[in-house]
Parts: sequence; structure tokens; C-alpha cells
Amino acid sequence: MQNQVEGIVIRTMPYGETNKIVTLFTKEAGKITCMARGAKKPASRLAAITQVFTHGSFSIYKGKGMGTIQAGDPLESLRHIREDIMSTAYASYVTELIDRLTEQDEPQPAIFDMLYQALHAIDEGYDPEAITLFVEWKMLQPAGLTPTLHQCANCGSTEGEFAFSFQELGFLCHRCFHIDRYIIRLSPALVKLIRTFYFVPIERVGSLTLKKESKSLLKQIVRTIYEEKAGIRLKSRKFLEQLERTPEFLPKKEELPKDE
Ligand SMILES: [Zn+2]
Repeated sequence: MQNQVEGIVIRTMPYGETNKIVTLFTKEAGKITCMARGAKKPASRLAAITQVFTHGSFSIYKGKGMGTIQAGDPLESLRHIREDIMSTAYASYVTELIDRLTEQDEPQPAIFDMLYQALHAIDEGYDPEAITLFVEWKMLQPAGLTPTLHQCANCGSTEGEFAFSFQELGFLCHRCFHIDRYIIRLSPALVKLIRTFYFVPIERVGSLTLKKESKSLLKQIVRTIYEEKAGIRLKSRKFLEQLERTPEFLPKKEELPKDE
């Protein structure tokens, strides 16, 4: 059976001397894994189309077992992502997160749209740290981690001061602060920002400018949720954190996580 799908390459793995196993996140079929025969040879017509972050239209032959990519046409290059080390690092983190939190062969058009918009925004030069935060907060729900953010997780109140509680997975109002010893107190601005990240679609947010401290705190909260509630720690996170700490000592291009 021959299928035409629109997808984004989120992971590749060498297979044998000349082949690649390619994971695509597609609009029609969700995440699928295919063989790309000969794609490791530079002269192959599949070489360019099977690089990570490529958005293309793929024709896939599916018999028994894993599908095979027969041909592909790029829909756009997103090449700025690959030209800038910070953009590459954030885009790698976003694709790894989506890869970890989704199952094979489950159509998830909303996640495809989000991935597409996030990579686009990074390619177009929006703050990649903010875009990554959006994806992290947005992916909580598909990951089965649904925080209570519209009201107090304990009493249901929508008024008052709020704090974040990992124990309750959501906000607690000041009347309920006592039920968790380890709450993180939040300013009204941060409460609003977390709700924006979680509820508002990426395309409606545009070029939000965020303070460094706000981004750090929101990142710390969301990454702690993934780690403590789902045991998820990403490989690309370590690399990203090194870059964030020491931007003046940027590693050379060769030291980037490799796209085989
Ligand atoms: Zn309460």
C-alpha cells in the first residue's frame, strides 16, 4: 500500500552501511517509523529529505512491518534552525520531548500543528527558550499530566494569591497553602503567564518578551513535573543546559548531538 503523508523528521538512526531508520511526525498518522534505504549515501535522493527537522511530503510504501520511504519532497527547509547552535539545541529538545511523549501510529493532528508552529517560530528567530516552554507546558496534557491551573486544586477558589504545588499538581490558593510544605509562591504575573503557556495556542501568543527569571522559574516547575510525575529526563536537556549556562563557550558544530 502506498501512502502520501505530510510530516516532520524528528529522529534518525543509522541502519547498516547505507540505510537510515527515520521517525516522522505526520499530520495524518501521528508518529511513524520508516526505513529509508540508501539514505546515508550523500548522493541518495533521500539524503536531504531525511535530515532532522525537515518538513516534507513523503510517499511511504507499507507492506508487513515497517514502512519504507520511497520518495519525498521538501515543503520548506527550516534551515536557520540548523545554522544556529542555540536554535538546533532547542529544536532538538522539542522534538525529543514530543517523541518521548507520543505513541506510534496514533493520529494526533493537534500535536503535529504545535510541532510545526514551534519549529517555524524557532526558525523565524522568535525566542527559542520561550517557544520551548510553550511546548513543555502544552505537552503535559497529552502526557497524561493534567495540572489544575484554572482554580485552586484543593478548594476550587479562583480568587486570591496562588502558589504552585507539585503534590497537588496545580495551583493552591493562599487559604490552602498549609496543605503542602513545598509550594512555590507565584506573583499574579507568573500565574497569568503559566495559564497563557498552558491554555493559549502558540500562534496566538506571538512575540512575547519574557524576563529571564520568569523563564527560569517556569522551566524549573515544568521540568520538575516531568521528572517527578513521569520520570522523564531528556538526553538533549543536558546539552541545552550547558549552552544556557555558558553561552560564551559555545561548542563547535561537530559537538552537537549528531544527525546521522
Ligand atoms: Zn484553596
